[in-house]
Amino acid sequence: MGLAEYRKKRRFAVTPEPAGGKKRRRARSLLYVVQKHRASRLHYDFRLEWKGVLLSWAVPKGPSLDPAVKRLAVAVEDHPLEYASFEGVIPAGEYGGGTVMVWDRGTWTPEVPDVDAALQKGELKFTLQGEKLAGSWVLVRTRSAPGGTGPGWLLIKHRDGAVSTDVITTTEPRSAASGRLLAEIAWHEGGDVAKAASADPPGEIRKLIAEPSLVRQRRRGKRAVWHSSRPAR
Ligand code: MN
Repeated sequence: MGLAEYRKKRRFAVTPEPAGGKKRRRARSLLYVVQKHRASRLHYDFRLEWKGVLLSWAVPKGPSLDPAVKRLAVAVEDHPLEYASFEGVIPAGEYGGGTVMVWDRGTWTPEVPDVDAALQKGELKFTLQGEKLAGSWVLVRTRSAPGGTGPGWLLIKHRDGAVSTDVITTTEPRSAASGRLLAEIAWHEGGDVAKAASADPPGEIRKLIAEPSLVRQRRRGKRAVWHSSRPAR
């Protein structure tokens, strides 16, 4: 159908109605995601949508809510926007092989008028609206990362109402997308369960071993519903 009939009936030099179909993207919030990634080493991939891609940093120890704790963040290659919802297993032997969890997700808002200039200058202040991380943060570039793996930055929480000394990577270990631990994702997706479990809090794994019925059921497709209340036969 398209908009042909809609347009034929209207004179857009006269009516204030939109003609539609302009390439201008509907204004919306910028995506933010943190992916917990048990590759050769555990790290947290911190990603911010900017200009059609996800700017990405690998944070070995993950974010901290304590403003006194500065976390190394190594700049890595931009990722496609679609990557923000990826949770699963990268096959062993492939680049980044291992288990990936959507640890946190939401939106971000720059606190600077010019993001490109801030990135160039090496100091980007922003606000997160995630399910786990919130409030004001800053990424500050340092001279270079240990090991020379890429440009080194520090991810630091600003003082505000969202600070805490709780270790959120331990207290909130599950997927924001599926509620699963890394071990459960690996189990469902055919990954290395023991390797994935090594990056989950040991207490959570002990609970699953003690009570295997707590292991999350695999959801079949995006619209699948949970049947955990269905009586077993
Ligand atoms: Mn990664």
